[in-house]
Amino acid sequence: MTYKSDIEIAQAVAPSDIREIADSCGVETNELELYGYNKAKISLDIFKRLEHKTDGKLILVTAINPTPAGEGKSTVTIGLAQALNKIGKQAIVAMREPSLGPVMGMKGGAAGGGYAQVIPMEDLNLHFTGDMHAITTAHNSVSAFIDNHIFQGNELGIDHVTWKRVVDLNDRALRQAVVALSDHNGRHARNDGFDITVASEIMAIICLASDMTDLKTRLGRIIIGFDYQQKPVTVADLGIVGALAVILKDALKPNLIQTLEHTPALVHGGPFANIAHGCNSVIATRLGMKLADYTVTEAGFGADLGAEKFFDIKCRAAGLKPDAVVVVATIRALKMHGGVEKAELGNENVDALLAGIPNLEKHVENMQAFGVPYVIAINKFVADTDNEVAALLEWAKAKGHPIALTEVWEHGGAGGVELAEQVVELIAKTPSHFAPIYDADASIVDKLTTIAKTVYGADGVRLTKAVERQIAEYERLGFDRLPICMAKTQYSLSDNAKLLGRPQGFEIHIRELRISNGAGFIVALTGAVMTMPGLPKHPAMLDIDIDEDGVVKGLF
Ligand code: ADP
Repeated sequence: MTYKSDIEIAQAVAPSDIREIADSCGVETNELELYGYNKAKISLDIFKRLEHKTDGKLILVTAINPTPAGEGKSTVTIGLAQALNKIGKQAIVAMREPSLGPVMGMKGGAAGGGYAQVIPMEDLNLHFTGDMHAITTAHNSVSAFIDNHIFQGNELGIDHVTWKRVVDLNDRALRQAVVALSDHNGRHARNDGFDITVASEIMAIICLASDMTDLKTRLGRIIIGFDYQQKPVTVADLGIVGALAVILKDALKPNLIQTLEHTPALVHGGPFANIAHGCNSVIATRLGMKLADYTVTEAGFGADLGAEKFFDIKCRAAGLKPDAVVVVATIRALKMHGGVEKAELGNENVDALLAGIPNLEKHVENMQAFGVPYVIAINKFVADTDNEVAALLEWAKAKGHPIALTEVWEHGGAGGVELAEQVVELIAKTPSHFAPIYDADASIVDKLTTIAKTVYGADGVRLTKAVERQIAEYERLGFDRLPICMAKTQYSLSDNAKLLGRPQGFEIHIRELRISNGAGFIVALTGAVMTMPGLPKHPAMLDIDIDEDGVVKGLF
């Protein structure tokens, strides 16, 4: 049997007029800013009108440690919202918008897959409503301002600049660059470099800001470098907070589109899941909760990174209390955790599946540690065998874990009815006792140790001498009371991508700390983290095309 590509499925569905979608979730016409007929931004004034409306339930979709193919979190997020609608519940999706770099590279977009997608997927994966461009421009305005400030006499006494430039492309040639070569015969030339836009601190800020006032406060707190006294220099010191806020005024507003089954979807913000927290915007999530009875959202990477940061950074910052978690697992990934090579994943192997289950088990324990009720969703692939599915269901039954087989990729909302019913029942019967795993006021070492031991199952953390010096410096500057944003491999619970399953007897090596003072977290890097990806040998760009009728091909 041959299956249609994601883009073929998406192009076969005619989107409803976005005004009808808005109407279906209670957004009034005067609150819509239309971008054509199938995309809109929503004015932040809506929060005033809905101020007294009770919030709906919040469901996080997360996953086990993924394999390189992705485990289908976005697919299940969209499919679950569609399924909730199918069983008569009012649901909305709140998810991230993709970056163009990976779309042109290899990973594909972030529009879900199969019959669980958001549309128009071409627009979403390309320029969408311009948020990425606005963030790129705001970010690079800071760089341009800094170099001009130095050129004009450097009144602030900027000694070294830590703020790099960004572009929304995978372009490894730009990782390191020298700028200002032509000014004053190169007197101000300095090393610089480019990150991808989604790694910009401004992206993280857009996603954590609660409103325009908070956006400005956070922008002002960004540290761009240090002066001759080694004191931090901030964007507020530069005096350009107002200008940046103007550039970002529309990017702060959430985008409304729809799923293939016309479920409303708020797709807004897309920060990296390593040096940032990897969740869609607080504004979109809060709006979803005002508009719908059930908001289904997701967080990047596996639950050790995505869910942990969703809980400890996003929910803490926004005062959100998630009601339920869906932990997505695939039989393929579990078999890989059980020792099967990628090339062999198509063959039935119940023993390897059972050997890989401890990875899932650890993530489930973590959800219990955060106090949030959970359901396991098996994201079924057509190659999964009945024996494998039965073995996984049997394991869950024996351990008393709620589990649902999910076929939303193949059947859309209809394939997620069992999951939707379980989620609704879980929320009705099991109260959430959500609490972050650590106290933000604890010392940096205590916070790192709690995450490493409780969430990763490590014996503890090992710090380099440089990190110890950074901790002393952050304590001196008063930056030590912020939550931690771990930058770690997504493939393992440990900091070694090759240690699959549920590793034991390891330490987490903290190599470097970085302060994202505007976003409001300390990034802890456990290894080399790429903030500017490169293109693969056969970039996706080679397969993308458009015909005379404007039909796009090759975008997955
Ligand atoms: P994640 O959000 O975990 O990165 P996605 O939902 O984006 O994963 O899915 C990654 C890719 O896997 C997409 O191309 C999607 O179409 C595909 N995919 C997801 N679930 C399935 C499935 N059950 N069967 C086949 N392909 C799937």
